[in-house]
Amino acid sequence: MAGNRTFTMIKPDAVEKGHIGAILDQINASGFRIVAMKLTQMTTADAETFYAVHKERPFFGELVEFMTRGPIVAAILEKENAVEDFRTLIGATNPEDAAEGTIRKKYASSVGENAVHGSDSDENAAIEGAFHFAGREMF
Ligand code: UDP
Repeated sequence: MAGNRTFTMIKPDAVEKGHIGAILDQINASGFRIVAMKLTQMTTADAETFYAVHKERPFFGELVEFMTRGPIVAAILEKENAVEDFRTLIGATNPEDAAEGTIRKKYASSVGENAVHGSDSDENAAIEGAFHFAGREMF
């Protein structure tokens, strides 16, 4: 059965460009409830752990550098079928392939600097949420 929570980050590129408000607005308007949220900055060790699944990929170093270069907004979101519906809302990894109206289509500039993260499974949503938030920070 599909879970009802997902984890997201508004990535450094979108924070730098001042898109936090617009992105949160679109998330809320799409029926997601924010159950945890903070502005934070990942350390190199944080980003290497968070993206460990990609450590053999050629873009890993660039990804870690990008994700640590400035603050991010981390959040846990609640909605029925949260993981799948949020992946639909953000669009394809590469903004060139993302559907019109999706968050990445509107705010991402490249396959690397693509504005937002969305968990790809219920299991990863739980792991990623717990990576950034203590239980008492979830409402
Ligand atoms: N990424 C990248 N180059 C690529 C593919 C991915 O820099 O060719 C980055 C991008 O920021 C992406 C993240 O690595 O969001 C994780 O990649 P994944 O394939 O898991 O995409 P996602 O689940 O974020 O759509």
